[in-house]
Amino acid sequence: MIYLDNAGSTIVDEEVLKLFIKDNNNNFANPSSLNGFGMKENYDIVNFKRDILNALKINPSIYDVIFTSGATESNNLAILGYARKNKNKGKHLITSKIEHPSVLNVFKELENEGFEVTYLDVKSNGTIDLDYFKSVLRDDTILVSLMHVNNECGCVLNLEEIKDVINKSNNKKVVFHSDLAQTIGKEKVNCSLFDMFTISSYKIHGIKGIGALIKSRKIELEPLVYGGGQEFNLRSGTLSYPLIHSFSFIIQKYIRDFDKNYTYIKSLFDFALKELNKIEGIKVHDEFKKHCPFILNLSTLSKESSIVVEALSNKEIYVSTKSSCSSKLKVISHVIYELTKNEKEASNSIRISFSKYNNLEEINIFVKTLKELLSTIKGK
Ligand code: PMP
Repeated sequence: MIYLDNAGSTIVDEEVLKLFIKDNNNNFANPSSLNGFGMKENYDIVNFKRDILNALKINPSIYDVIFTSGATESNNLAILGYARKNKNKGKHLITSKIEHPSVLNVFKELENEGFEVTYLDVKSNGTIDLDYFKSVLRDDTILVSLMHVNNECGCVLNLEEIKDVINKSNNKKVVFHSDLAQTIGKEKVNCSLFDMFTISSYKIHGIKGIGALIKSRKIELEPLVYGGGQEFNLRSGTLSYPLIHSFSFIIQKYIRDFDKNYTYIKSLFDFALKELNKIEGIKVHDEFKKHCPFILNLSTLSKESSIVVEALSNKEIYVSTKSSCSSKLKVISHVIYELTKNEKEASNSIRISFSKYNNLEEINIFVKTLKELLSTIKGK
């Protein structure tokens, strides 16, 4: 098997699996229990949070970690929770048109609740027009939410510039949130730019079912889940010591190994880009000012991408696509559409995404197979 869908999900790190099994045997108490077993676990969890904040190089006396089930829940808690709690301060919100659905659909919901949302365009080179951003930032804007690494095409937004515009504006109450689900361990970012940010475990070889919203302590949110009051009353429910420990472990490991992994992945990316650009009938989306090498997107112009992806799957080569020929409703990539304004490219996009477990030989086989399929598959 050749697995090139690592932005979708990754294989779990062996050390993480061992730790998870050990913790499930040894640390199965309820961390909220007031007996000694639970209290010891609670003490450890406070330390795991501090380890995460230290690994991300942000000040543990300024930020809190709220564990969630993953990035979707973290984005929901950040955006819905902030808007609902602070609606008396203003009703205007800003995001971009290329966000993940767990951000875009939350903003759609807030429009139903009476908020006004500005959806920023992102240019084909993966940049936001700063003058336009400046012009839409209003006195009643309370929240800006912009992702860093885009999950479909790998373009990296320059959020330092955005923060700079926010800092220079007269509006001192704007809160800045970022979805960093595809960033941590894969692209450098200064996390202290943000008042809140979203992270997830299984994109970096951690276990599914755990993520976090990290937020400045001064920010108040309305909870989405009510119950026993865990996680500062913002996310009730029994904490999973094994999942939390595994998450803290993998974040630290991936940040420690960042340079080694990045250099290796960049060599795979450069090779893939060079070879893919030689194939006729595809368009590689590589025109970004900054491109995270873990993700590469291309459009098959002469064949339907869903058919190509299925044919690749039949040869046990796994990549990802948005469109499905069996679906009555054709789903196009809203990201590729926003960047290219080209419906054909958007409805025939294929994402390949790398991990440290891939190698050049696999990329070579993928490129050769893709080339072969494009010439042998009949029809469009
Ligand atoms: N945001 C981004 C940028 C993502 O790539 C994903 C996962 N595809 C999510 C949010 C949702 O993550 P989760 O599956 O952890 O809820």
